[in-house]
Amino acid sequence: MTTFPPWPSEADSQLRVHVNRTLNLRTIKAIGYDMDYTLVGYQAAQWEERAYAYLKQNLIEYGWDSPEFKALEFDAERVIRGLIVDQDLGNLLKVNRFAYVKQARHGLDALSFDAARQAYGTSIDLTTDRFTQLDTLFSLSEGCIFAQLVDLFDRQGLPGVYDYRGIWSAVRKALDEAHIEGELKRDLLKDPDNYLVRDPLAARTLLEQKRAGKTLMLITNSGWAFTRQVMALAYDPYLPDEMTWRELFDVVIVSSRKPGFFTGTHRLFEVMDDEGQHLKPFAGQLRSDAVYLGGDAGQLEGLLGLSGDEILYVGDHIYGDVIVSKNLLDWRTCLILAEMEQEVAYLEAIRPLQEQVDGLMAQKQRLEIEYDRARANDLLGQQSTRKKQGMLREQLVSLDQDLGDCLRSMGKHTNPYWGSLMRAGADESLLAQQVERYACVYAARISGLGLATPFHYFRSKRSMLPHDL
Ligand code: IMP
Ligand code: MG
Repeated sequence: MTTFPPWPSEADSQLRVHVNRTLNLRTIKAIGYDMDYTLVGYQAAQWEERAYAYLKQNLIEYGWDSPEFKALEFDAERVIRGLIVDQDLGNLLKVNRFAYVKQARHGLDALSFDAARQAYGTSIDLTTDRFTQLDTLFSLSEGCIFAQLVDLFDRQGLPGVYDYRGIWSAVRKALDEAHIEGELKRDLLKDPDNYLVRDPLAARTLLEQKRAGKTLMLITNSGWAFTRQVMALAYDPYLPDEMTWRELFDVVIVSSRKPGFFTGTHRLFEVMDDEGQHLKPFAGQLRSDAVYLGGDAGQLEGLLGLSGDEILYVGDHIYGDVIVSKNLLDWRTCLILAEMEQEVAYLEAIRPLQEQVDGLMAQKQRLEIEYDRARANDLLGQQSTRKKQGMLREQLVSLDQDLGDCLRSMGKHTNPYWGSLMRAGADESLLAQQVERYACVYAARISGLGLATPFHYFRSKRSMLPHDL
């Protein structure tokens, strides 16, 4: 009898599921899972360093072979998920929920507040193709090299490139090639201990969901050859007896071309060989022993006989997994944000500083009101408040210095270039707003769903409005 790893205690667990919208797992009939960075966790810094190396190699082959270019190295902290690439100006931006630019960097250097304000005004139009969001951890390599290349382009130019847009499209093409050519994935499969984040509780999560009668589905953009190998590495060692990951899933769909899987209609095929090369058009009913390729979400709903609100889809791509499945099909959604582990640790670490900041801000607000009142009294020409105003101004300057010190200390606990993932200053980051709007729930790992059990009723917290006491 296999003994499964125990669940950690709910109270101090990094596995907590965060709830935006009430979700009753008892009414969910089918759970669809994305694979990369969802079912299978990767060490993002290692994987992206490898991707960066292949990306760079492809760019060297395009003729970008100056010694300065060859000397570039991957920096895993240079970008974070959710940033916006401005292809016209060569900038990376962190924006808040109103699409207001809170932080901007041109190449490797930070833009001043005034320069950012001059370039972007009070908000940017994220619907134009000038702006591209870095949607997943697969973007760390391209975001990093883009910043480095903008810097290099400004200093010495790049062969065949006339503007920042040209840099971005070359980087995109080179990264696409790195993912499609097999070498990157071969490296991972050869050295899984270096690249995989193994989570024995993920296997337990799926097994419990299956035994609870859920239809489990794997829907990935990866090809079949990679999928079957990496799933075996991530799951088979943690399943009972001779069981393999294949027995967990009722439906397996590879090369699904999300977001297209959710946005259009596509033909569905059955994969007939291990390499995923030999295909047969789909006919009849879905079989759990078959592997499928392509297709679309509407067809899948029809084949399963389920409506959108009976399906939960779990994925890490804010747009391709979550925004489109929620928006177009009204599926229930769970976003996997591996960074939540650091984000929660960050919030813990800064809690005393945060309390200090809250106290200072309350004081600042009181002083500002007093100062404004003194100025307003002056307007009536009665007793002069000049002296009082001077005193209050001095107190406000000193408060601002204390606040600055606190904020700088907080910054030491998070990404040195961009700060926290979910906050842009005191406000929500754009990513946080997308998560709030489109992800019913979110968690660092799928085993968060397992810890909660397949029967859990996730309830959202009462949200605060500005006028709430
Ligand atoms: P999923 O997350 O399981 O749907 O699979 C993601 C797949 O997309 C993996 O096979 C990745 O190698 C691939 N991928 C990620 N980023 C890129 C890219 O920029 N270009 C092409 N393929 C990508
Ligand atoms: Mg994924």
